[in-house]
Amino acid sequence: MAYRTIDVPQDVSAVLETLWRAGYPAYVVGGCVRDSLLGRVPADWDICTAATPDEMRAVFAGETLIATGEKHGTMTLVRCGVPYEITAFRSEGEYRDARHPECVRFGATLKEDLARRDFTVNALAFSPRDGLVDEFEGIVDLRAHLLRCVGQAEQRFAEDALRIARAARFVAQLGFSMEPATERAAFAQCGMLSAVSPERVRAELERLLCGAYAGAALRMYGGLFAAVLPPLPAWTGDAVAACPDDLTTRLAVLVHACGEGFLYSLRFPGETAFAAAAAAAYLNAPPDASRESVRRTLHRLGVHGAQVYAAARAAVCAAKHDDAGTREASAFWSAMRTALAEGDCYSLAQLQVNGTDVMEAGVRPGRDVGRILSRLLDEVMRGILLNERSVLLARLRTMIQEESAEDEESETVR
Ligand code: ATP
Ligand code: MG
Repeated sequence: MAYRTIDVPQDVSAVLETLWRAGYPAYVVGGCVRDSLLGRVPADWDICTAATPDEMRAVFAGETLIATGEKHGTMTLVRCGVPYEITAFRSEGEYRDARHPECVRFGATLKEDLARRDFTVNALAFSPRDGLVDEFEGIVDLRAHLLRCVGQAEQRFAEDALRIARAARFVAQLGFSMEPATERAAFAQCGMLSAVSPERVRAELERLLCGAYAGAALRMYGGLFAAVLPPLPAWTGDAVAACPDDLTTRLAVLVHACGEGFLYSLRFPGETAFAAAAAAAYLNAPPDASRESVRRTLHRLGVHGAQVYAAARAAVCAAKHDDAGTREASAFWSAMRTALAEGDCYSLAQLQVNGTDVMEAGVRPGRDVGRILSRLLDEVMRGILLNERSVLLARLRTMIQEESAEDEESETVR
């Protein structure tokens, strides 16, 4: 492959050109260059330039320029409603706390700017005027599918330990492997991940789990997360690889593998954490594909949660070579599909009677109303009561009679 040019979108080229014309070299840089060369669609087009934020203000006078990260040299130009992130070339001073450089220096050269970037394949720049700028042999590594730190790996990971998690994440997204010195340094220094903000580690872990090569990345590099995750059993990578492309399902598998503590310590959002933990809790119970069990699962987890559970179960059983479990998991899937297609009742909302009916039958407003509805739902889910209004109203009356008879009995005993 030639790897010499890339298709920069017309509007992005126009921004580069405005800067060049004003006398400031400007390039697209980082992930967008890497992804374009790999034939992947870039997530966004980052621009870097010799202009400082004040110089950008002069160049784009009359346009909307927002100081989104001015301290770090980043300004956002908004043209025709589209945002363009433009960052001044910079070099970084000493690192303070394994994450934040002491100071940021503007007025650096493109080469200095590329030198501070994490991996050689992320240190590529391109402009239609200059073509591809490859100061650190990123193209060689791109061809070889290798992640190699720019400069000395130990030093680069010591500066910013998040790069260790990023390396594992790029392995999962790109299917690359780590060049040996980078890999050795990553394993030697991965303990420092505990010093990185949990939100940043979580973001990388999420992207890793959603990567097309997540299974392989976990098998090879799951151990890099030892400071923030309990040890992962050997089947974890295979199970994640067998999951559909869905974060909650993959997290449920991870919870099954190493417990739910990491969901909280890495500050996963409440809703995601709850859904993954709830589905994972079901994975600990013996599989059961009866129609009643399907309805109860739908009741407890909701439709999406039950699908997450079923997919996670299938993936875990496949990874553990548990043939009986795999058969059970697929039986559960088809029972669930049938239950949903046939409109099985698994929630109070679907029940053909409601609180008003219960009160009209003579129950005083209060907790008893909900309790009686739950009993009715329970019998419907067990399959001993039809979810038909007349049937439910008749059962409601006998239920109330039974309960008052029981009450009288206990009064007499007392
Ligand atoms: P993605 O496709 O996920 O956006 P990306 O490579 O663009 O991948 P970003 O996090 O958007 O990743 O970062 C943009 C660029 O900034 C990277 O390509 C890299 O050059 C540089 N970079 C980002 N984070 C770091 C870091 N922690 N240390 C050094 N360089 C970094
Ligand atoms: Mg990016």
